[in-house]
Amino acid sequence: MASPFRMDYTYVAGTGRSVFLRGLAEGRMLARRCPACAQVYLPPPEFCSRCLSRLDEPFELDGRGVISTFCVVSFPFPGQVHEPPYVVAHIQVEGSGTRLMHLVREVDPADVRIGMEVEPVWAGEDERENSLTSIRHYRPAGDEYA
Ligand SMILES: [Zn+2]
Repeated sequence: MASPFRMDYTYVAGTGRSVFLRGLAEGRMLARRCPACAQVYLPPPEFCSRCLSRLDEPFELDGRGVISTFCVVSFPFPGQVHEPPYVVAHIQVEGSGTRLMHLVREVDPADVRIGMEVEPVWAGEDERENSLTSIRHYRPAGDEYA
């Protein structure tokens, strides 16, 4: 039996991630470092998930990084925002010890590789908000695409 089901969520980002989200609205990618174990988080929580120390003040990264893993979404599903095929990747942003998940566009999905250098493409200033959608997507940034 198929039955429609709908739930509304209110997600509370918390103190740490709120700083990250407000940074996105300003076109800035804010990371934080753990003073005890040196792990760098992007997006940053308030406390280190390895040693529970309160993280240091936010600092800015330029957002460039490499693809650490990815998948090509090639089938349609209800509620889909993007036309398949498209690439969703984990991006190891330079200077961060954690990974960010985002779309990779402006490249044929068949050409996407682990280790590919990518850079963020920001939404226009008037379109930015407290959300990862302030970054439209990532795109290849290596010399081979310059
Ligand atoms: Zn730590």
